[in-house]
Order: sequence, then structure tokens, then C-alpha cells
Amino acid sequence: METIVGIDLGTTNSEISVLEEGKPKVIAVDGDPIMPSCVGIDQNGKLIVGRTAKNRIISDPETTILSIKRKMGENVRVKLGDKEFSPEEISSFILSELKKHAEKYLGKPVEKAVITVPAYFDDRQRNATKDAGKLAGLDVVRIINEPTAAALAYDAGHPENHKLLVYDLGGGTFDVSLVVVEDGVVEVKASHGDTKLGGDDFDQLLINHVLEIFKEKHGIDLNVDLRSRRRLLVSAEKVKRELSDAPFARIREEYIHNDLHLDVEISRDEYEEMIMPLLQKTLQCIQMCLKDASLLPKDIDKVILVGGATRTPLVHKIIRQEIGLDPHYEISPDLIVSMGAAIQGGIIAGDKTHSILVDITPYTFGTGAIGEREGMFHPDIFVPIIKRNTALPVSKGDVFFTAVDNQEAVDVKIYQGEEPIATDNIFIGDFVIKGLSKAPQGNAIVLNLELDINGILKVTAIEKATGLTKAVTMDTKNVKPHLDIAEAQKNIESLLSDEDEDEDEDEYEEVETIDNVEESVASSEPGKQPLLAKAKALRKRAEKLLGSIAEEDAKDIRDMLEKNREAINTGDMKRLAETNTSLEDIIFYLED
Ligand code: AMP
Repeated sequence: METIVGIDLGTTNSEISVLEEGKPKVIAVDGDPIMPSCVGIDQNGKLIVGRTAKNRIISDPETTILSIKRKMGENVRVKLGDKEFSPEEISSFILSELKKHAEKYLGKPVEKAVITVPAYFDDRQRNATKDAGKLAGLDVVRIINEPTAAALAYDAGHPENHKLLVYDLGGGTFDVSLVVVEDGVVEVKASHGDTKLGGDDFDQLLINHVLEIFKEKHGIDLNVDLRSRRRLLVSAEKVKRELSDAPFARIREEYIHNDLHLDVEISRDEYEEMIMPLLQKTLQCIQMCLKDASLLPKDIDKVILVGGATRTPLVHKIIRQEIGLDPHYEISPDLIVSMGAAIQGGIIAGDKTHSILVDITPYTFGTGAIGEREGMFHPDIFVPIIKRNTALPVSKGDVFFTAVDNQEAVDVKIYQGEEPIATDNIFIGDFVIKGLSKAPQGNAIVLNLELDINGILKVTAIEKATGLTKAVTMDTKNVKPHLDIAEAQKNIESLLSDEDEDEDEDEYEEVETIDNVEESVASSEPGKQPLLAKAKALRKRAEKLLGSIAEEDAKDIRDMLEKNREAINTGDMKRLAETNTSLEDIIFYLED
């Protein structure tokens, strides 16, 4: 059977997939399934595409082109070095690179492709995309809409008729489409969006926030300095991603201005307040889309998330409130469109397709906390932390607060289920974190849940102010049955009490128990194995970068690699943790 690849030619990133045994497989480009849609020329005038081109964006902005998709269909020329190119030509470089990697993977020439475009692309833009394919030596057998591809990825192999809402929030654009699947035909019924709304705007809000704080503290406007601006941009984007998984994150930049450092902690709550007005705009687009299709929220069968910025937890929350459905994001929102394109390619080639199976958690995991339900105070509201349908492995955190002054311990109870009252769900296990510092009510405890591919749950509770940590692993596959009423009552009472309790941890593997703050600092050094694994991964990333960065930066990396190696050789785990962090900081800065 002939091979027809599927390509998501995106504004920020591009991906290529192929159907293998009825399932789409994303083909990695230099070890990464996501290739930046970036084209440049190096110091020798050689064309470079993807991550290598993106790595030069800070050092060589004049010889690097980003976001060419925005110009597709326009009669313009863009300058690259001393030459000028049409948007189709630049896009063809991206497509050729993807094609080359697919050929290497498949071991045979790739001649045909399905390429995706936004639903709002007009005829000119679609033809320009086809022409770019031709220039790359590809016969573009079909151009399909991105939301159609996303719907196909979820619905291939499902004969039922469905109405899907595809919510696509990328780096620079937002669109929402109403896709109807009827008798195997997938059709976009309505589409709305905002071509100037995306994750990059969230970064900007975070930057504005820290700029203001720095100005207030030091009377200096960091915005006037180009290098500081770029550093902040990289930092803000990193912090934004961290806030998708954790309740707090820090923007830390040393020597941002002469000998002044920037160090600002941001909570997820603060961040959500900043971005809420932008997300409100996406809700208006949903309403317009539904109106155009003459549908009500209750008519929607499934909401599908596309685009990296949909990893923001607030996006899930507002969708749930607006449509009344939990959105689907079990297929990576970065890869789903190219996977759908590969399915379409397979269908055209006559392949049988199946829906994509990914490892997900079919249950929500969370804890109980004092809260409000139907306007009434309740001692045991279920607070989901890892939501069902999340792809595995996953790590998510949230923050909780002590209920009384000088509370010395917190009993952490973990439940599995979807019921709004914690004790109505399945009880997985509990443990006590003791030795909290003497603090007024509202002492923050960060609770992190990490679920691995085998259903093993690692629960970590950290007193934020001191770093006092306790972690326990629980096997979620052998969960106890529902608690009886008496036991549930006991749970409720124990949550209200600030008394320490006897622990019954025999059935859980204790990972780390720290009973006082001093010990906590000393023992906060992570275990040896994860440190070594991290060092290895960092070394790989560093080696990948070394050929494509300025000598000065390469020297920094080599020096740090040397120190890192020394730490391993001498068994100095503290030093290893430090050098890992320094190395990661340098790499992160250079990769972006
Ligand atoms: P895309 O255009 O689909 O590649 O999406 C890129 C956008 O998604 C950028 O603004 C990224 O910063 C953002 N993004 C990627 N991962 C995350 C994450 N974990 N949380 C929030 N935003 C993210």
C-alpha cells in the first residue's frame, strides 16, 4: 500500500505523521516530535530549518524567519540573508525538512501528503500551501482543516454521529470550530477565532507583572533593554508552563540589570486572574460559533483541545463551565492535528484506521478540603488534582491551607472518583505531614500528585514556607472499596481536627519522611537515580546544542558539563543537583 504522510504545517511548530497498522505515528525530527516552523541560514550561508534555526533566533534575528504561515497567500517577499523568498518557498523548506526525516524513518521516498490548514484559510492561502508542498517535491493529495484533523484523530473508527467542539489555542492564534461527524463524513459547520490571541499574550501579561514589580522596587524599567526583554520572554514562558502543573512558580533572572537580580514568585491564582479577560474572549467565540451552527451547549457531544496553550488548567475549567463537559486532551494537543492528517492520508490510501489509544487515567484523583457546596459550608469537598482522561505519566499540584492557627499536622487523604464530596469517592490512602511551623491559619501546603504509566501514585505534601516534605507512594490498582459511613464520618472529623494522628502506612511505601525543618533542608536533595538520569538527559540536550551556538555559550556549557561529570565521579550528589540546575538553566535559555 502506498504511504501518504500527514503534515501539520503550523505557525509556531510543524509535525509529520504516518499511519502504521491503522494508527498514526508521529515521526521525530532529531529526536523531537515537534519541529519549530523556523527557517534560517547559518554563518556559512547554509540553509537551516527547525530547532537549529530557532536556536539562533536571539543571536541572529536577521537571518531567521518565524511564523511564515501568517503570510501564506500574500504577494510578498521575505528577506533571508541577501536573498528574498516567497512565503511558499520558505514553507517548502519546512516541508522538505519534514519529508527528509520521514524518508529516513520509513526507508523509502515520500511523495504524497495530506497537509492541514486553519478552517479560516481562504482559497488563496490553501493554494499557496499546496504550492509549497509541490516545491518540496510532495503531491498534496488533500488539504484538510485543522479541526477536521483533530476530530478524525478522536473519531476514526467510531461510526457514531457526533458534534464536536474543537478549541484550538496556540502560541499566537485562537480558533474554535464546530465539527459534525455524520455517517463517516467530517465537516466543519462553523468556525470563529482571533488571530491575535494565544499563549504568547499570556507570557506578555506575566512579563508586564514582573516589570512593574521590578520598577517599583528599583525604579528601573527593564523593558528598555532588548537583552533583558528577551531573557524575560524566555523566563515568562517557562514559568507559564510550570504554572500549568504547579500552584506556584518563580521568575528568577540573575544580574538582569547590572548587579540587580529579579526574583518574583507567582501563584497560579494570580496568573489566572491576569489571563481571565483573554480567556473570556475565547468564550465569546464559542458562543458565536454555536449561534452560527444554531446549536446550544447541550448539543455538543465532545470538546477537543488543540494547541499547546490548552494545557492551561483555567482553559479546562472555563470550558467545563461553559459547555458542561470535560474537554478531551488525552491525545497530545501539539500532535493531534498531524495525527489526524495521517489518518486522512491512510483513508485515502485505502488503509483501515482505528481510533488512537493512548495511556490515560480513566479516573480523577484528588483530595478533600473544606469548601462550599450549593452555598453551604462543607468539610469535605472533593478537589480534583489529576483529572480523568489525562495522558500518563502525569504530575499535577495544587495548594491547600491550614484551617487553624499553629496547626502542626495535616492529614492528607487521597480519593479516586468523580463525586463532588470527597468521601463519596474511592479512598486510596492517607498520610500525615507533621512538624509544620507555628504559623497562623492559612499556612500553604503544596500537594503534588504524580501518576506513572503503571498506575502508581506518588503523593508529595510540602509546607511551602519551609520546604518540609513528606512523600508516599500508593498503588492505585488495588484500591480499597468505598468507605462505609462510619469511616467517612471519621474522615470528616479528622480533617477538622488539628490533632496529630496515628499513621497506618504499612501498606504504602514510604519514600521520604522529614520531621523537622533543619532535616528537611539537608534531605531535600533528591535521590541519586533521578539525579543521574537527569544529568544524562541534560548531557544529550547539551550535545545537541553544541554545534549550533556561539562559541562563548558553548564554552559555558562545556564548563558546566565538566563540573557535572566531576560531581558524578566524586559521588557528590549535592553538587550534582546544583550543576544539573545550572546546566538546565543555560540549555533552556539557548534552546529557546
Ligand atoms: P502551539 O502553537 O500549539 O505550538 O502552542 C504554543 C503555545 O503553547 C506557546 O504559547 C507555549 O508557551 C504554550 N504552551 C506549551 N506548553 C504549555 C503548558 N504546559 N502550559 C501552558 N502553555 C503551554
